[in-house]
Amino acid sequence: MLTITIKEGKDKLLLKHHPWVFSGAIAKIEGEGAGFAEVLSESGSFIAYGYYDAKSHIVLHLLSWNKSDRMDEAFIRSLVRRSVLRRKELLQRKDTTCLRLIHGEADFLPGVAADCYGREVRIIISSRFAYAFLPAIASELDTILHPSIIEASVDKAFAGPEGLPERLRTFKEGKEAAEDTSRANVRFIEDGILYEAAPGKGQKSGFYCDQRDNRRIVEEVASGRTVLDLFSYTGPFTLHALRGGALSVDAVDSSESALRHLLYQVHINEDEKIIPPESREKVTITDADCFGYIRGVEDGKYDMMILDPPKLAKTKASLDNAMKAYKDLNRVAMLKIRNNGIIATFSCSAAMSAESFRLMLSWAAADAGVEIQLLRTMGAGEDHPIRLSFPESEYLKGCLIRVIKG
Ligand code: SAH
Repeated sequence: MLTITIKEGKDKLLLKHHPWVFSGAIAKIEGEGAGFAEVLSESGSFIAYGYYDAKSHIVLHLLSWNKSDRMDEAFIRSLVRRSVLRRKELLQRKDTTCLRLIHGEADFLPGVAADCYGREVRIIISSRFAYAFLPAIASELDTILHPSIIEASVDKAFAGPEGLPERLRTFKEGKEAAEDTSRANVRFIEDGILYEAAPGKGQKSGFYCDQRDNRRIVEEVASGRTVLDLFSYTGPFTLHALRGGALSVDAVDSSESALRHLLYQVHINEDEKIIPPESREKVTITDADCFGYIRGVEDGKYDMMILDPPKLAKTKASLDNAMKAYKDLNRVAMLKIRNNGIIATFSCSAAMSAESFRLMLSWAAADAGVEIQLLRTMGAGEDHPIRLSFPESEYLKGCLIRVIKG
């Protein structure tokens, strides 16, 4: 095991269980290569155990603040097991078979995101630590859940900085196996709605299961409304609005394949009588840039809008520009929506705090000359917990607002 000494004054957050250590905070490293490390303050007192890899952009990830823990593969396996067991109730839900099993640092496994889709598990890796322990993580998930297949890939945004290959890796019965993309789409349900995901494709691990609770909120207010679903992806908000009794839903996204899949999912849910009859006649799809599209929307056409853009602030440095983009999108939506219309608006940028998100909305309202009422504050579901010693884990923020004009 390596021994790493942290510079005086750089250990404050670490003592409060923040898990990230950048190279500038390190005073001394004893030992060679990548591996587990005992992390000490300059006075020599124990802070935590971690995993060190000089090639990672976060060179040291802290894993345990308990001196009596033993750092080995069995410890990593126990983190996986505990993470899954924390979701026992969710895993027993009959109406939801898609959820996050491991949520990275918030579950004490830096850079590991694992989602289950019915009988399949998909892992997205964003750290060298996660890549190093991938076989152990996959094998432990297999032991607990017995999935039909586990697929793992490296997050595109991290493959470069971490020096990792993006390629898909497949595990069956806990062992690495040949890639199997010829198999059928996997079917799963979320809150009673049917979905399909193609093997090894799609965005994220194929589906955004962090929005589960917010889709239900949208459904509850959709009755009798004319809905615009911006950044619809494969249509979960559209499907919920339809089940909630929306008059019509116009879905817009820049991914044509996602929109085609949206229509397919409307069909299968209508066929299974999960959404009302003739739902397919109520839906339109448009392949367009939503930032431009919203400008051309007819005034007062909609009385409900969903704004779920991709992560616009990738880092804290890009926050100012991102704030402008979020504000502009929300401002135009507020201008276009009918008096008393409802907007479900989101940001999944970790760099933007919940407070900044609300501030941005108040600026947008002031510029649009409208008043807004905050009806509900929204966030990711409980399978994407926010670890308070790691504020970066609060990435998804949402507000359900009513727009009042004149
Ligand atoms: N609302 C979706 C998730 C949205 S993710 C759900 O509940 O599952 C963000 C989506 O925005 C992606 O589908 C992506 O294709 C789309 N997108 C990214 N940039 C876009 C742009 N400029 N205009 C339209 N869509 C965009």
